[in-house]
Amino acid sequence: MGFTFAVRPRGVLQQSKCYGKSKIAHAISVPLFPAGPIAAVIATTVHLLAHVLVPGAVALLFFRSRWRYAWLVMLATMMVDLDHLLADPVFDPERCSIGFHPLHSLPAILVYALALALPLLRLVAVGLLIHMGLDGTDCLRQAR
Ligand SMILES: [Zn+2]
Repeated sequence: MGFTFAVRPRGVLQQSKCYGKSKIAHAISVPLFPAGPIAAVIATTVHLLAHVLVPGAVALLFFRSRWRYAWLVMLATMMVDLDHLLADPVFDPERCSIGFHPLHSLPAILVYALALALPLLRLVAVGLLIHMGLDGTDCLRQAR
């Protein structure tokens, strides 16, 4: 299965490695994710909801005394998706974000992981890493 991404003529974003397209990802994906366009719509909806609900659950479980603040900060980290504005189309449910968008690249994810060590940035780092994990599950679905 080939995959192409529409890119602005200026070439702001080039097609890059898609980390979800490996044979291992495919083997994991097939039993987990049903095939078909309706399943894809449902999966996209669940994915978007998860971006709101998973940080909320993490806030309640691990930042109980200030869960509203923690959830708000983690929701704010969804602004990391502003890097989608560099791509054309801006939203493509069949595009794996990880490794494609600059703020979803592996070096960026490494920076988010390192930021866990800094108490001042920890909530932001947790929010960004949850975001990357959820986007990663979407890449896994696309590997089907
Ligand atoms: Zn994202």
